[in-house]
Amino acid sequence: MDPGFRDIVVAILALSFIVFIALFGHVPALRRTPIGWGYSFIWKTLPSWVTRLDMAVTGGLTVRSIKRLFNYLMFEKHPLIQLFYMGLVSGGLYLFYLGGWHRIWSPVHKIGVPLIASLPYISLYLASYSDPGYITPENHQRAMKLYPYDFVNFKPGYHCSTCRFEKPARSKHCPICKHCIAKQDHHCVWINNCVGHNNVKYFFAFLMSTNILLTYGFYLTYFMIRQIVIDSLPAGSSISQLTFGAYIHEFFLCLIMDVWLGIVCLLCLMTGMMSYGFTGYHFYLLWAGTTTNETFKWADWKDDIAAGEVWMARDPTRNPYTGRWTAATRGRLGAHNWPVQSDKIVYRIINPDEMEYLDKHLIWNKLESIDELENVYDIGFWKTLEGVIWVARF
Ligand SMILES: [Zn+2]
Ligand SMILES: [Zn+2]
Repeated sequence: MDPGFRDIVVAILALSFIVFIALFGHVPALRRTPIGWGYSFIWKTLPSWVTRLDMAVTGGLTVRSIKRLFNYLMFEKHPLIQLFYMGLVSGGLYLFYLGGWHRIWSPVHKIGVPLIASLPYISLYLASYSDPGYITPENHQRAMKLYPYDFVNFKPGYHCSTCRFEKPARSKHCPICKHCIAKQDHHCVWINNCVGHNNVKYFFAFLMSTNILLTYGFYLTYFMIRQIVIDSLPAGSSISQLTFGAYIHEFFLCLIMDVWLGIVCLLCLMTGMMSYGFTGYHFYLLWAGTTTNETFKWADWKDDIAAGEVWMARDPTRNPYTGRWTAATRGRLGAHNWPVQSDKIVYRIINPDEMEYLDKHLIWNKLESIDELENVYDIGFWKTLEGVIWVARF
């Protein structure tokens, strides 16, 4: 490989890796790994160095402006990332039109390209403009009946200080959407919307259509460049005579020569890996019967259990803290028909004095492992998937 080109490939790979760390380094599974440490370096250590430098040079002016911009970008609804996504897709399609359209070898693909290219736009529109499951005073009662409290991550009696109603199980207030969202998964900047109970199917459609487009784009451009390699071979020699190394060398040469096609091919490959990784993570969440929001809670439990701070009791009647609950709340707890039930109650006790507040009628044991906790929302992969696809809006 020519050294200049190799440097570019290395630089792109390094940059992709840094972007990956910055975006996904906070995922609980990566805590206490070099990726997790890299994340805290990028978001904590580095900014503190920049702040100190800026205080010395401009008296903090630059950092204040950056913070204002950062707050707007992070905590307000804005379409910048949607535009970035559409720019990437549209730009890629335009480059494909320049470098690849005339090379399409079958009429099937002349229909396939516009068809498959339209899917991400449609699904992005649906995911962005659908109601993720905004909870309002009008539909609050119905939202309360969607999921039971698990007494681990969601307990009754907690109120949203902004929306001023009792938080339904699995809901979360989104400061960007400024609403409580039913079964909030996460606020997704790509769709400029929350992913929640009502629109998670559109979010999956968005992920899948992006994967399909990138896979199809890579497939077409790969075989087009391969054809260029074949055409460039001296008469009488065939591609099967090339060693793997020589083939890759020829392939990259043709990829640089036909630059538009080459960019689309590499773009599909690189962004495809990210898109597949992200999709894989969301399928894992379906399999585990949890949400992005809940994985953070589970990770906290894991840390707290390791610190010996978590106590659990079984309560067949499910009425600890009876005094704190209204009769209506207690009635509601039995009003659901969720397939998985648990009689476990879990509390984190940091200060031994707090043991006083635990229900004296129950036997409390200190938890040793996260496996002793039960995830009542885990009803199996297929049932969860079914619930996502055939979701009944509440
Ligand atoms: Zn709220
Ligand atoms: Zn949101």
